[in-house]
Amino acid sequence: MKITFEKALDIFNYPFFKLLRTAHGVHVKNFDEQSVQISDILSVKTGGCFEDCAYCAQSIKNGTKIPKQPLLDLETVLDAAHRAKKLGASRFCMSASGRCISSEAEFEKICEMVRFVKALGLETCATLGFLTEIQAVKLKKSGLDYYNHNVDTSPEFYPNIVSTRTIDDRIKTIEIVQKAGINICSGGIVGMGETNEDRIKMLILLANLKTPPRCVPINKLVKIPGTRVDDSNSIDDFDFVRMIALARILMPKSYVKIAAGRNTLFESTQALCMFAGANALFSSEKLLTVDNVKPGADKILFDKLNLHIENPRLDSCCI
Ligand code: SAM
Ligand code: SF4
Repeated sequence: MKITFEKALDIFNYPFFKLLRTAHGVHVKNFDEQSVQISDILSVKTGGCFEDCAYCAQSIKNGTKIPKQPLLDLETVLDAAHRAKKLGASRFCMSASGRCISSEAEFEKICEMVRFVKALGLETCATLGFLTEIQAVKLKKSGLDYYNHNVDTSPEFYPNIVSTRTIDDRIKTIEIVQKAGINICSGGIVGMGETNEDRIKMLILLANLKTPPRCVPINKLVKIPGTRVDDSNSIDDFDFVRMIALARILMPKSYVKIAAGRNTLFESTQALCMFAGANALFSSEKLLTVDNVKPGADKILFDKLNLHIENPRLDSCCI
């Protein structure tokens, strides 16, 4: 049954403790409250992107000047994957800048990266922009477990953030990926000048997909100087917690990930988010072109919260 905006708004506006209690109740019905899934992410191809995503350091349309880096070689990627596994990551994400991977040779190299990373005993994830059906099937055959393709904000606010594509273009790739039997990882960014209504509409869009995403990353905007949203008002921490709680309630079986911007959240805010149902994080020191949490910080946090890290689910076929 489709979730209505009115229903989601009503839940979002529950008294804070009622919202947390409700979300936590949904969470413990579907997950171990003391388990957290850890991913690591590597930019395998960086910069020089012709898309105009307002938040992104890699767009040539923003005044950010990130040096263009061609596709990394397999050995470099595998070294990073080995390190990630040693640090407890169960999933390794490979990210490429750009609207899509148009070069056949590059695409084959990325499929090879997926095969070798999978062979290390890690879940594999890729985020490469738009995909064709043929590309999605090839990635599935290579052992890809997850494909990240964020919707980023509400349909109404989307044109303020990206003009070189539409949110429907993103949904089309999400459907192609799911049809190929790969788990979708799709969420968005908060703190770009959108309203709480936009944030709620983004979550409803995801929850009302034929199959909701297996993983929903909530990014807190990292304000990169030179981008079009670098002077936006930050989201209030309690609204951020409310977003996590609503994501949990609307998508009870999805992993809810606190993604970029986590290094600006107090440990206590992160604890509230996890009580509300956040159960996935990035452990890497860098998230593509921005800093993430400091090395060792998560071990301290997990000890304080009595959390353990989830093992790779290597049979993670599309749920
Ligand atoms: N190029 C791919 C694409 O556009 O789908 C991958 C982009 S990047 C790996 C994945 C996500 O990181 C983006 O979709 C966006 O949601 C998030 N992101 C990028 N820049 C960000 C920023 N400055 N602050 C917060 N999140 C950001
Ligand atoms: Fe390009 Fe992706 Fe950055 Fe958008 S988010 S500018 S598509 S690399």
